[in-house]
This record gives sequence, structure tokens and C-alpha cells, in this order.
Amino acid sequence: MTVYLVGAGPGDPGLLTVRGAEVLARADVVVHDRLAESSLLDRAPASAERIDVGKRPGGPVHQDEINDLLVERGRAGQEVVRLKGGDPFVFGRGGEEAQALLDAGVPFEVVPGITSAVAAPAYAGVPVTHRGRAASFTVITGHSRHEPERDTNWEALARSGDTIVVLMGVAHRADIAKRLMDGGLAASTPVVAVHWGTRPEQRTVRTTLGALADVELDPPATIVIGQVAGLDLAWYERKPLFGVRVVVTRAREQASDLSRRLRDLGAFTVELPAIEIGPPADGGVALADAAARVGEYDWVVFTSANAVERFLPLVADARRFGAARIAAIGPGTAAALAARSLIADLVPSEFVAEAVLDVFPGGPGRVLLPRAAVARDVLPDGLRAKRWEVDVVDAYRTQPVTPSAEALEAAATAQAITFTSSSTVTNYLASGAPVPPLVACIGPVTAGTARAAGLVVDVVADPHTIEGLVEALRRRLVG
Ligand code: SAH
Repeated sequence: MTVYLVGAGPGDPGLLTVRGAEVLARADVVVHDRLAESSLLDRAPASAERIDVGKRPGGPVHQDEINDLLVERGRAGQEVVRLKGGDPFVFGRGGEEAQALLDAGVPFEVVPGITSAVAAPAYAGVPVTHRGRAASFTVITGHSRHEPERDTNWEALARSGDTIVVLMGVAHRADIAKRLMDGGLAASTPVVAVHWGTRPEQRTVRTTLGALADVELDPPATIVIGQVAGLDLAWYERKPLFGVRVVVTRAREQASDLSRRLRDLGAFTVELPAIEIGPPADGGVALADAAARVGEYDWVVFTSANAVERFLPLVADARRFGAARIAAIGPGTAAALAARSLIADLVPSEFVAEAVLDVFPGGPGRVLLPRAAVARDVLPDGLRAKRWEVDVVDAYRTQPVTPSAEALEAAATAQAITFTSSSTVTNYLASGAPVPPLVACIGPVTAGTARAAGLVVDVVADPHTIEGLVEALRRRLVG
């Protein structure tokens, strides 16, 4: 239907725009450059076709071929996302793609992105304009191939005295520095080069125009020249988990909370959904039946937020709970209940099945336990020993997910991995994905499963919550 020219931002997956995320979520096909971060591609439906035009034996796909591809897919009536680094119209050749689509009469939209020209300096603590230092900034390519007919007038640029942001300039930095100095810029002019800005590999090099030729610098980098480069408002590289790459293995539906907390601390997360939540084998018949009779029970015990989310919509009218009391295994489950205006009567102080048993009153009476299809029998057995009649009903089933090649590649360079349930451990290992050096588990049961599978567990969260896991990991990594 429409071809969207979408800016992916400079690298930090949080810098994708809301509109970009929206169109990705309903793409039939994603045509992308060599993006090192797989998480943006994971925003497209699993069924969407992914075409990497940045990587091909013999170099990237030629621009004309990309234009043709976009036109062809647009004409075929597909929702096409052309995902490009930074902003599509800043040295991204997005203009050429838009022109080709316009000429062919294919509807298109542009979704601007955050350009590295502004974001990479910002993540290094350098504003491109600043009162008293620079009232304008010029973004320029250091690669003459991009402007074959027009040789940049670096000397004239030097005379402006304001900020010069050079993209693709690493290889020619000696020449650029010389010409700017020939144009009158002092050798002492501050320079900041940001390598892999907004990413865990970010490295900021502070130098001067006179020394730029001799500093060690690898592409890709954004080079900022001018008085603003003398400012050092560093914040990103000072975050406690800056530079640490963590694999997050939750169910596809749940990864965001853990990831967000880790990213807030500066970590770079690789979301590798090891499992997804599906309906139970009977399609939910038994669960719906139990929900209809919920008021007949003395207690309903929830051992996960998933169970809450599967069960409650089937209850239809909250008053059907009648006198039934509610137990939650931990605060995450209790929060899922509270989100539906149900306050748990019982939450143990430690968040494992054994702890529920410790504080659970004695029977007789009836207990409903809606939970995952495959789960330990500790809870039902323990409740029966306390003279309760227990109905265990399958609320959902976890099924393995095959991770994408990009996600596996990203996981291979991670320093740490988080496991939040036994099933994520089992399914992650079954997928054959690499296990990073540091293994962190949410609690003793998950850790037990990991150890039984041969892993060395370095961190066990206490309390056994997402927050506890993040805190334990932080303590372990930064001491
Ligand atoms: N359309 C992109 C720019 C493409 S040109 C944008 O708006 O950001 C590619 C150049 O962008 C690289 O050579 C480098 O100079 C710069 N660049 C891209 N990503 C970067 C990053 N994460 N950190 C620093 N520079 C980056």
C-alpha cells in the first residue's frame, strides 16, 4: 500500500520514533541497512519479510536496485518499511528513494529519525549550539563520493566560526583539519569525535583541530568541530551499567519492563524472547469453566502475571469472585491483579511457591490454581497436605521461540544474561543461543534449573522480582 521511509535513529533502540514503531509493527516487508541492533527489526511482525540491503558479498546493494525494490513492493500492495540509520534525509539517500517512488506513482511517507549528527554529540555531552559558543551548526560529509560534483569549500566553512559536524569523515580527517586551519580556524579549536554514539560501544575522543589527524579513530564516528566541543556535559558514559550488554530472555510479551529498567541504568539490552505465551492445550475450555465458577472457591492462587492476564478476562464480572480470597506469589503478580482492581489478600515475603505454603492458612476448603501447563507440583501438593481440595487448571502454555539470526549475533557479544523463569532457561539453551559469561537468575528455582543444565550462576536476585534482579546485577557489575 504505502512505502515508509523510516529513520531508525543512531543506534539506541529507544531513539526510534513512536511513528516509526507504529509502521514497523504492521510492515509486510522491512528493507533495512546493516543495522547492528536487532531489536528494531524485532518490532516488525514475525511473519514480515526482512531484506538486508546493506550486506551482500561484494558490497551493499546498488541504490538503483533498492529504488526498484521499493517501487516493486509498493506496487504489489505491500506495507513496506525502508529502515535507515539516523534520519532518512540526512546523507541517507532517502531523497532519491522518495523521488523514485514519486515518479512511479507509489504512495510513500517519510518518518524522520533522530540523526547521529545531533544525537551522537548529545550522548557525548556536547550540544551542537550553545549560547555564547555557537549560534548555528553545519552538517557536512567528509566523504567526497557523496558530493562528486561539488567540492566542499572547507575554507569558507572555517570562516563561519560556528559548529561543524562532519559525518563519514574519519578517513579524511587529516585533510579536513588542514583545510579548516588553512581557512583560518585555530589549531587549538576543540574537537570531539564520537565513535558508535548512543550505543554501548560509544567512545568519545576529545582533541583539537591541530591534533585530529593523529588521534586514533575508527568509523563510524561523528566529528564535532568548534567551541561547543570544549563543553563536557557527559551523562551517558557515566551511567552505572554503561557499556554493558545484557541479554533479556523473557516471554516475547513481557521483555519490556526488565529491558527498560536495565536501559535506564545505561545497559544495552538484547531482547531474546526464548518463549512465548500461548493458549493451553484445550484452548482454554477448562479455564473458562473455572472462571465461571470462581465464587465456589475459598481461594484463588495466582503464581504469575500471565495467569492473571489469562484468567481475569474470562471472569467477565468481578463480583463473581464472591467471598473467594486471592493469593499472589509476588509483587509482579499482585500488581497485575491490582491493575484490574483486585487486591491480593496474601502475598508472601519471599516470592516462591514454598513461601506461599508457609503463610497459607490450613484447610479444609477449595482452592483454584490457574497456572502454566508445565509447572512444579510443590504448591498443589503442599496445599493438599494442608487439607485443601485443589483444582489445578491450565491457564497458558509457554512455547519455545526460535531467535532471529541478528538477535543471536547480538547475544554472542553480550556480557550478561538474565533468566526470569525455569522455562526461559530451558528454552534458551534448547535454541542453541550462546550463553554470555555472567548468568543472573530471578530466584533460587530458576537458578536451580540453570545449574542443573550445567550453567554457572553468578547472580541470584533477592528479592525475587524484576527490580531485585536489576539491582543484583547492578551490584555485581559495578560493585
Ligand atoms: N542518515 C544518517 C547518516 C548516514 S551517513 C543519520 O542521519 O545519522 C553515515 C555516517 O553517520 C557515519 O559515517 C557516521 O559519521 C555517522 N553515524 C551514523 N551512526 C553513528 C553513530 N551511532 N555514532 C556516530 N556517528 C554515526
